[in-house]
Amino acid sequence: MSRYEAVIGLEVHAQLKTRSKLFCACSTGFGEAPNTNTCPVCAGMPGALPVVNKRAVEFGVKLAQALDCRVKDNSVFARKNYFYPDLPKGYQISQYEHPLAEEGRLEVPVNGDNQEVRIIRIHMEDDAGKSIHGAENTSYVDLNRTGVPLLEIVSGPDIYSPDQAVAYLKALRNILIYLDICQGSMQEGNFRCDANVSVRPRGRPEYGTRTEVKNMNSFRFVHKALSYEIDRQIDLLEDGEEVVQETLLFDEASGETRSMRGKEEAHDYRYFPDPDLVPLTIPERERQKWARELPELPLSRWRRFIRDYALSEELADTLTGDRSLADYFERAAACFDEPRTVANWMTSEMLRELNERDISAAQSPFAPEQLAELLGLVRQEKISTKIAKQIFPEVFAHGLDPESFVQEKGYVQITDESRLEEVVREVLAENPDEVASYKQGKKKLMSFFMGQVMKKTKGQANPKLVDQLLRSGLEG
Ligand code: ADP
Ligand code: MG
Ligand code: ZN
Repeated sequence: MSRYEAVIGLEVHAQLKTRSKLFCACSTGFGEAPNTNTCPVCAGMPGALPVVNKRAVEFGVKLAQALDCRVKDNSVFARKNYFYPDLPKGYQISQYEHPLAEEGRLEVPVNGDNQEVRIIRIHMEDDAGKSIHGAENTSYVDLNRTGVPLLEIVSGPDIYSPDQAVAYLKALRNILIYLDICQGSMQEGNFRCDANVSVRPRGRPEYGTRTEVKNMNSFRFVHKALSYEIDRQIDLLEDGEEVVQETLLFDEASGETRSMRGKEEAHDYRYFPDPDLVPLTIPERERQKWARELPELPLSRWRRFIRDYALSEELADTLTGDRSLADYFERAAACFDEPRTVANWMTSEMLRELNERDISAAQSPFAPEQLAELLGLVRQEKISTKIAKQIFPEVFAHGLDPESFVQEKGYVQITDESRLEEVVREVLAENPDEVASYKQGKKKLMSFFMGQVMKKTKGQANPKLVDQLLRSGLEG
């Protein structure tokens, strides 16, 4: 392996979160009855005229701005001609010679370092429909997805390993989610990736022949498919054979790639400018407005979290890796001035509850202010950390007010000295042997006595106070 270097370039299709399709007013709603979200435009009726969706353009320009791309003054929609049963127009409307934006970059965090990957282009296009192969050799076509807006984001060949490829995809997906323009789910197919990959002897400037791998619907499969494909190409070169340029399908079951079709050239598609659509120009005023609306992006938020809240890189990673988690954190940290404690709680106790329910922090039944209140109870020594963790699943699940819950259920720490003194006396009286050993120098038994006191008080005794009382009881 180390004698060879892999080169990877990724093409991502991101489905935009617009309410209507790219060139008509049909709904983009998912999971509705087949062929209900259609009209003459997306059903490809002759004479129907497309009108571009302004929201989709706004989303495209915002992504371009977030990726430092140059937004072109004029971009042109072109017809990419091919026949497919679920593409009734007989062509896809895409952008070819003049894409929406070019020449950007994405900084990808890899092992605490940032690696810059060039963005070659971002262009807009409409999606095809869906063929469904049913029983009895019958196939059906559902046109609900036909015409749904996509952005294609093409990276430079600047990625050198499966790990980096996954890191790039995660960073890109995160930006799309921060911008709130794409759902970013590979499983549901609204964030799709094709991977171009080649290998070359290390140190050689020219690229090797590449293959393109399709059909990977999770980060894990992208990693698997690329690793497989890199090994396959190295084996070919080692055997003195050549890599054939082709499109491959990743087979999840076998973990292998297999040939789908041979090399295809752009001219196969007979691209030409769509005569029904004028070139897309984006007024300066609009660009500036959209630029002002850009949210803080993941990388700068990550840096700010480390700087302003003194979080570790790892905690900042976990929190900013999910916009809603980061938002939640900032609201909680605004009410409780120990950000690291908030971050630790969120990435352990809270993340566990969220993951169990498969919900985001934005959907949490437990509000950030409530988390801050719970942590406040611990800091004021009204409850121990142990009790806080113990009650967390319940207060979280029902969004209960921690303070009143603790009062009602009698979880408040026992700080009443005379009450604790009594318990300590009991424990010492019940364990004369241990008391004798302690007095002979077996100081480790302290934790045994502490445990006994906690058992009798259901974990509610104030540990500091118990420690003092035990010491004076044993040594006094
Ligand atoms: P096409 O027009 O066939 O899609 P492009 O030149 O647009 O080809 O490149 C598509 C993708 O392939 C880009 O992401 C690019 O970075 C990547 N790529 C190009 N050449 C190579 C190569 N030799 N090895 C790996 N990736 C490559
Ligand atoms: Mg391509
Ligand atoms: Zn339509």
